[in-house]
Amino acid sequence: MQKVLDGIYFISGQDEMIPDAHVYIIGKPESEDLSMIDAGLMGKAGYKINAIQELGIQLEDIQRVIMTHTHLDHIGCLAEMREKMPWAELWVQTVEAEPLEHGDERTVYGMDMFKSMCQMQYGLKDGAFTFQVDQKLIGNEQLEIGGMIWEVMHVPGHSAGSIALYDPERKVLIPGDVVYADYAIGRFDLYGANPHHHRESLLRLADLDVDILLPGHNQILERVPRGYLRETVERWEAYLV
Ligand SMILES: [Zn+2]
Repeated sequence: MQKVLDGIYFISGQDEMIPDAHVYIIGKPESEDLSMIDAGLMGKAGYKINAIQELGIQLEDIQRVIMTHTHLDHIGCLAEMREKMPWAELWVQTVEAEPLEHGDERTVYGMDMFKSMCQMQYGLKDGAFTFQVDQKLIGNEQLEIGGMIWEVMHVPGHSAGSIALYDPERKVLIPGDVVYADYAIGRFDLYGANPHHHRESLLRLADLDVDILLPGHNQILERVPRGYLRETVERWEAYLV
């Protein structure tokens, strides 16, 4: 686990055949009000919990898990995480929260072929990803958590209920799978995805002042070049129609 800034910690995913999402812990340790952003792929909770504890963070201080979205590589080990911290609330954007509560797994798996493959490989049953959501986020919230302020943005396109978290003071953006390093963006062909919305979401993110980009996969960007997000939209514009 790596400290990005005071109150922002990064635990790298460990990809298999399927990628494992990165996890971020946000909140000042002295606040005892920390949040985990995303969980990761099935079987990937243990090493992340160890990494958190090795940095001296108390598991009991993690009050909630906030999902950037509910794809399998982000939510796969949520149940394992919550076994270790059963007190932690679950916060999800409302468009994906409701299906999650009803056991509708179309967003989780993204496509039928992937669902059968994963169910076989990981021994998952229908309804394995049914969760009660403690707080349904809409977008435009200002979260005062962990002694920090995070703005929630609803950024559909990669999935219908994707959110980004933005710290305006330190110019840190946690965009989930909407955008990555190397001018890459999240796929926009899965269930609930919409290339047109993806473009609009990217344009809204491009209006932000971002110094540090902490995406769901691949490298993190600690010195984001000026205009990086706008350049990314321009490179992908022709595909996002
Ligand atoms: Zn995703």
